[in-house]
Amino acid sequence: MAKNEERCSFCGRKQSEVELLLTGVTGNICNNCVESANDIIKEQIKSKKTNFSLDKDSLPRPQEIKEFLDQYVIGQDEAKKNLSVVVYNHYKRLLQKDMGDEVEIEKSNVIMVGSTGTGKTLLAKTIAKKLQVPFTIVDATVLTEAGYVGEDIESILTRLLQVADYDVEAAERGIVFIDEIDKIARKGDNPSITRDVSGEGVQQGLLKLLEGSIVNVPPQGGRKHPEQKLIAVNTRNILFICGGAFDGIEKKIASRLNTKTVGYSASKATRKVNKDNLLQYVAPQDLKSFGLIPEIIGRLPILTYLNPLDREALRRIMVEPKNSITKQYVKLFDMDGVKLKFEDEAIEYIVDKAIEFKLGARGLRSLAESVMVDFMYSIPSEKIDELVINKSIVAEKIEKFEEKLI
Ligand code: ADP
Repeated sequence: MAKNEERCSFCGRKQSEVELLLTGVTGNICNNCVESANDIIKEQIKSKKTNFSLDKDSLPRPQEIKEFLDQYVIGQDEAKKNLSVVVYNHYKRLLQKDMGDEVEIEKSNVIMVGSTGTGKTLLAKTIAKKLQVPFTIVDATVLTEAGYVGEDIESILTRLLQVADYDVEAAERGIVFIDEIDKIARKGDNPSITRDVSGEGVQQGLLKLLEGSIVNVPPQGGRKHPEQKLIAVNTRNILFICGGAFDGIEKKIASRLNTKTVGYSASKATRKVNKDNLLQYVAPQDLKSFGLIPEIIGRLPILTYLNPLDREALRRIMVEPKNSITKQYVKLFDMDGVKLKFEDEAIEYIVDKAIEFKLGARGLRSLAESVMVDFMYSIPSEKIDELVINKSIVAEKIEKFEEKLI
């Protein structure tokens, strides 16, 4: 063995003692040190990622959260305000715990009622962008009572654990958006006639989560099984935001408003009721008539609604949000060096068609896509530097799209 045998500059091992010694400009490193350095780097990055640290001065204030939401979501001021306050208070609760105060602020879980495609999920997703805590969206439709096909309630928390990189402490301060909560409403007035495996039983299970308790979560989701190692998660500080379309709830609201007018509060009958948007009057008792159990409603103290999207709102959705549909196409074409412009009339035509086909905001994208797809196919190979989308182009392309629909 050579006398001046090279050594690892980190652990001091000789070349002959290791499998591999890499030589650098001023030193050497052995394979063992590379491996442990790799582990340390991974650990550090992980803890940086899940370090949802909070301090009072850096907390986004409610107005700031709302202004952020305004950049992506059109209208829905009521829901935006409610959500901004709730999220801000959630942070404050988390901070309060650290300070060991005596007055304990209780969490205020939220329920949002609004027709499909009015921006419930978009609101939740946009809030997530601004958050400093783990956040996940889960769908209530897959949940069933234990023992039936579907997923256990606890799987809701699996996703949260996953986004928190299985850092339980971080997950325990997170926010969960439960979509389609209306799908677990009790189907009939008398739940005992038939088994209601995806209704009341699931609500009872969910109650446990909302209330705050220690829940054993299957780390990979799905169904729990005996051999599986479970992770205990305390839901006391997890904020739940629920959303649902509650199709037909307007009837319940209308009948409640009507019965009220003949009751002792008949003086309120003079209050003008806007029959086109009854959702704005939604109250906890309507959720109960719809089939949510009172205990669940009690655990969702903030009830807010989303407005239906009118023509003007749809038009604004096309152009205004920071990542609006038209802005996205402009960006795509810009990458090919093509200046893309949409004429106002063209946009209005797309909006009118979305209304005519009853496609709502979701339809805007598919209609716009049907207009743009041919251009996106051909333009990159053509030598043009400007493209203007006018009404006649849109009309022609959408006509073809309509033929497919029929
Ligand atoms: P919901 O959850 O209420 O069924 P989504 O939030 O998923 O509806 O909305 C579907 C799509 O429609 C969104 O991805 C977004 O592109 C568009 N959209 C709906 N409502 C709005 C809104 N208020 N502002 C901007 N875009 C919206």
